Amino acid sequence: MVAATYQLKRADFIFRNDNDWEQILFKTLKRKPQELVNELMSSELKGRGGAGFPTGLKWKLTSEEESKVKYVICNADEGEPGTFKDREILTKVPYKVLTSMAACAHVIGSSHGYIYLRGEYKFLVADLEKAIKEFEYYCKQINFKFKIDIFLGSGAYICGEETALFESMEGKRGEPRNKPPYPTSIGYMGQPTVVNNVETLAHTFTIFKYGAKKFYDLGVQYSRGSKLFSVSGDTPKPGIYELELGMSLQDFVDEFGDGDTKAVQVGGASGFLVPRKRFGETTIGFQGKLTGISLPTGGSMMLYNSSRSMFNVLDNYLDFFREESCGQCTPCRVGCQQLLRGIKAVKRGEKPAAYLNKLLKLSETMHMTAKCGLGQSIANSFSSIVENFREEMIY
Ligand code: SF4
Repeated sequence: MVAATYQLKRADFIFRNDNDWEQILFKTLKRKPQELVNELMSSELKGRGGAGFPTGLKWKLTSEEESKVKYVICNADEGEPGTFKDREILTKVPYKVLTSMAACAHVIGSSHGYIYLRGEYKFLVADLEKAIKEFEYYCKQINFKFKIDIFLGSGAYICGEETALFESMEGKRGEPRNKPPYPTSIGYMGQPTVVNNVETLAHTFTIFKYGAKKFYDLGVQYSRGSKLFSVSGDTPKPGIYELELGMSLQDFVDEFGDGDTKAVQVGGASGFLVPRKRFGETTIGFQGKLTGISLPTGGSMMLYNSSRSMFNVLDNYLDFFREESCGQCTPCRVGCQQLLRGIKAVKRGEKPAAYLNKLLKLSETMHMTAKCGLGQSIANSFSSIVENFREEMIY
């Protein structure tokens, strides 16, 4: 049984029209950097892009670097299949993101920020530029030196990975770097850099306006606060919803399913597919569940009903990864192609069903040896689909 605290609860902070952003910015910039870091740390906000690194710690580490030049980058390269919430934040409440970028600049000692915008979101540029102009005008009035530029990506999924994003901004191929060093010490142009997801910055605004406690009181232990979910697939209610973290997947399906949900892909193509029999024991959050499995997500929640072929779903994901692999390391470059060819061969009856076990081993090897999260995470969807829907993979 799942504990009673794991219930679906709606929240309404992100899209709340807090049009007092000038006052919030003014007040925030008057506070000491350490105070702001402490507020973020006590809120326990974790990055909403998927990786879940504590935001306050990221700002703190960058603030401790000695360099005179530092950068704040808002990662708006929203490319995970099934995710479409960041563009809504940038459309409806851009000033929240800009205010938090300025607060971050104040904390770390930076005077230059960038919004790395997904190439497909070019249509947002004109309105964003207008918002930035108004924002910079206000910063000037209060004597805060901070400039924000938009950098438009060229449509590569891998550029959402922060070090590939730096390479892309520096005019090179968008390929991930080795880590360490981490961006907090060596990031864009070799300088200490904070990269925060759009949604993370929007939550930061909530924390500075309403206080850390308000945020901390939402969600559950280890998974504090609310989160935006992009709900798609076989659902009568597709859309974007702000929900508290820690709900059970069963609660989620009860609310958003069509009564025939056979599986949910949590976290997009790089996430996990959860079959119906595991809905009750799966919670949506970072870790620290009371029972069962806890899954983090950047926000993508795709529901599949019994009309869907899970072979087709997996085929589609693998084709996506094959296309988006940057090709820098062998396990991912070759592995993606082999997995795709392999499942097709089994489906056509050219390989025995036992060949799926070899493919599972290959995906495990990719998980252990690929250089970045893209290649490492292919095993998530691959193993969860093959293990739970093996009969649908076979001829
Ligand atoms: Fe590139 Fe894939 Fe290797 Fe990442 S894992 S560096 S995307 S080839």
